[in-house]
Amino acid sequence: MAVREVLEIGDPFLAQRAPEVDPDLIGTAEIQAAIDDIVDSMRAANGSGLAANQIGLPLRIFSVEVNKNPRYPYKPPVPLDIIVNPQLTFLSDRTFENFEGCLSVPSMRGVVTRHLEVQVNGFDRHGEPLEHVVRGYSAGTYQHEYDHLDGLLFPHRVQDSSTFCSWNSFKRYKEVAFVAQVEALVAEFGR
Ligand code: ZN
Repeated sequence: MAVREVLEIGDPFLAQRAPEVDPDLIGTAEIQAAIDDIVDSMRAANGSGLAANQIGLPLRIFSVEVNKNPRYPYKPPVPLDIIVNPQLTFLSDRTFENFEGCLSVPSMRGVVTRHLEVQVNGFDRHGEPLEHVVRGYSAGTYQHEYDHLDGLLFPHRVQDSSTFCSWNSFKRYKEVAFVAQVEALVAEFGR
């Protein structure tokens, strides 16, 4: 287990599509160690999710975990989730405007449109097929992490570039209104 450096925007590796993992190899020591490093690195950096290629691993794996996150205090809790070879299916056309941040994009936030209801298919860390339906605010986190595996960072998804702001400016000018919006989603979806 190890905490690895998180690569930052502009690093060519982040722009590459991460290749699939052979499901028969998920149980190997190599892949299990990689998963441990993803989780350790996510937690060490207070991330709410982390994709393997953010720490230099060319693997189609991401993690999500939210538990009173100091970077995103308004995010509803999500138990630790590891997805290998994820596939996302949008279950409806409903979307919301998410003010995103990213460990690979230090000091910057911006508004990205995300779907509210997604189905996540893939494998868990034991190599078992999994299928989760994620509804509400947390659906955005899964879409953000999935994008990493396709070489996309949230700034590539921002349609209105005037929404880019620093974390300090977010706190000063944007947070109150955005948290009210998140609370409305949590009230509707129960998480
Ligand atoms: Zn990110």
